[in-house]
Amino acid sequence: MITFGYNCPHCGVVNGGFEVRSFYENKKHDNLSIFSLLAICNTCDGSIISDIAIFDNGIRKEKIDGFRHQLNHKDYYYNLYEVYTGKIKFFPDKQNNINIPQYLPDSVEEELMTAEQLFADIKLKPNYLKPSGNAYRTVLERALCELSDNDNQARLNKRIEKLFEEGKLTIDLKNFALHIRSLSAEASHTYNEFTQQELEELRLFTQLFLQYVFTLPAMIPDESKQVKGS
Ligand SMILES: [Zn+2]
Repeated sequence: MITFGYNCPHCGVVNGGFEVRSFYENKKHDNLSIFSLLAICNTCDGSIISDIAIFDNGIRKEKIDGFRHQLNHKDYYYNLYEVYTGKIKFFPDKQNNINIPQYLPDSVEEELMTAEQLFADIKLKPNYLKPSGNAYRTVLERALCELSDNDNQARLNKRIEKLFEEGKLTIDLKNFALHIRSLSAEASHTYNEFTQQELEELRLFTQLFLQYVFTLPAMIPDESKQVKGS
């Protein structure tokens, strides 16, 4: 049996366990076999497939025979990434639940990845609701920290007001950030009910905020940033 970890495109579990349950060996040539693998997610039972070509350059077909043997073995678990070191592409490959906008500062991207991974696990672990909400709040804090040149002393609302006064946030973005702050405050209070719907709103607003302040400005060509005639 061959097993491996993968971010499931069906249930969104991050690095979930998969088992190769079935395969078809297409013997293209004496020294080349293409194995079509069908793997099942241990969490949701959804399936993914992949084609893996195994090539032997000697007369003895050690690699091909070895891979087939490992697939057929009933009592021992081999890790796919150890028995095959080439690049593997699975279908479907859409990792539904992880959304990282482009051009984020590294520190913001890192925090957002944490929040997105917690969010992706919500279906399986409902107790991740508040940790996920808190993680999006940290993303906002990180983003504001980047915008204010790492002045991380002030409280969140103070920092938002300061960025507005300095002209780094427009009035709309200021209100946007304050809204995210109030949504995330719900998550950070242990005595509050924090719902899935509130988390989804918090996630959407955080994503949009990041796109406004980091992604869009990075996508605008330099010449468009200069006001005409100035
Ligand atoms: Zn799954």
